[in-house]
Amino acid sequence: MPDSSSSASARLAAALASLHGQMADRISTASSVREEHSHGEAMNAAFLPEAVIFAESTDDVSAVLSICHDHRVPVVAFGAGTSVEGHVVPPEHAISLDLSRMTDIIQLNAEDLDCRVQAGITRQTLNTEIRASGLFFPVDPGGEATIGGMCATRASGTAAVRYGTMKENVLGLTVVLATGEIIRTGGRVRKSSTGYDLTSLFIGSEGTLGVITEVQLRLHGRPETLSAAVCQFETLDDAILTAMEIIQCGIPINRVELMDSMQMDASIRYSKLEEYQPLTTLFFEFAGASAAVQEQVTATEAVAAANNGLSFAWANTPEERNRLWKARHDAFWAAKAIDPKARVISTDCIVPISRLGELIAGVHQDIEASGLRAPLLGHVGDGNFHTLIITDDTPEGHARAWELDKKIVARALSLDGSCSGEHGVGMGKLDFLETEHGAGTLAVMRALKDTMDPRHILNPGKLLPAGPVYRG
Ligand SMILES: Cc1cc2nc3c(=O)[nH]c(=O)nc-3n(C[C@H](O)[C@H](O)[C@H](O)COP(=O)(O)OP(=O)(O)OC[C@H]3O[C@@H](n4cnc5c(N)ncnc54)[C@H](O)[C@@H]3O)c2cc1C
Repeated sequence: MPDSSSSASARLAAALASLHGQMADRISTASSVREEHSHGEAMNAAFLPEAVIFAESTDDVSAVLSICHDHRVPVVAFGAGTSVEGHVVPPEHAISLDLSRMTDIIQLNAEDLDCRVQAGITRQTLNTEIRASGLFFPVDPGGEATIGGMCATRASGTAAVRYGTMKENVLGLTVVLATGEIIRTGGRVRKSSTGYDLTSLFIGSEGTLGVITEVQLRLHGRPETLSAAVCQFETLDDAILTAMEIIQCGIPINRVELMDSMQMDASIRYSKLEEYQPLTTLFFEFAGASAAVQEQVTATEAVAAANNGLSFAWANTPEERNRLWKARHDAFWAAKAIDPKARVISTDCIVPISRLGELIAGVHQDIEASGLRAPLLGHVGDGNFHTLIITDDTPEGHARAWELDKKIVARALSLDGSCSGEHGVGMGKLDFLETEHGAGTLAVMRALKDTMDPRHILNPGKLLPAGPVYRG
């Protein structure tokens, strides 16, 4: 056991020697692999991880954490690296623990609509592999994310308005704690009132409380009928009012997504949606038995028409629907293509749906005053949207984007909202947590961190502002 007063680099060297002794074939120190694991999609890293370990089992994860705990070496869990708030950016002298080789479907319980998977499987692979069962897993963040990473960021996406987020779709977990101890939380049942809800505690914990190795997921039946449509509007207000009224009337819509005119212009070019105008647009999806879908469509068309919607354009074949939803999922890359040399910084505010119109109107004023380009799009059925702030990739450019981000968050918080509906805190949203939650609540969060990871080796510097710095 090393002396805790020895230097961080000496402790790292000792940990790596132990790790090499146990799993040399799963460790890479190649600079290209270290570079790939030093960042997610949106933030640069100051340090590369010293090594990347590709875990193949829960026991591997346990061995890594036990050694790193003994030697007080920081560990950053890594799924697919699609997170956008600097979540996987390592501190100095850290190890990246990659779960992407853990891709087994351990159990598929089709009769109970659940399955147990290893944390490194991606949602797309899972859905391909269980297709024949007639079931699917609905949570769909844009990137090819892993189920473990999606648990850790409490991800959602376009289908959350109908199916909920990871919080509503995870029944239980296997988690390796900081010391290497393995625990199971939750189970297979739909509800249980026994004890603290530790499953929910780990959902959204961003790799700061434990490393998730297995996930019990709720599955859903594939709907009999799926139908998608696009409706364009002359004004943003009319589009937002339409989305709000659809939710307020209780129409069980599958997805309702907004793109403002600047985003639509970018997506028309990037995704070749030439049949549409660069106007504010709502994308809809309806699902269910065919009679129910027809009812939803009729009700939605009536709401849109009452709010000056232009005519509905239908996408009825699977190919046409896939093309539309791919365009929606590629919106970030479409915005990036507006200026390939620029940096795109995404905001992620959410407010109660009745406040959405007020917030977006204010955000458009802020964007105009900033002089920056910032297309806006989002999961408006949940009251959640992103502004994709396009800025020079320079310290001054980042500072301007950050100023705009702060104004947008301040508006959302003043309307009972949150600074992040789905991307998480990482490093990018640290400054807003105290305003959003209050000092007392943050103190409870810090106490939990201290209890579960007393040496602060798990993804230090993320999720909690200033308090739990790495104590190597
Ligand atoms: C174009 C684009 C669109 C996106 N759209 C959406 C969207 O609509 N909705 C949405 O929610 N997100 C969206 N995202 C963000 C991203 O896809 C999600 O945050 C996703 O959940 C991250 O999963 P990952 O596997 O890539 O995790 P990573 O980026 O690898 O890790 C994310 C965090 O989870 C931790 N972690 C990873 N695996 C584990 C594990 N097994 N145990 C414990 N901790 C772990 C990491 O340490 C890190 O803190 C988008 C990203 C991009 C690039």
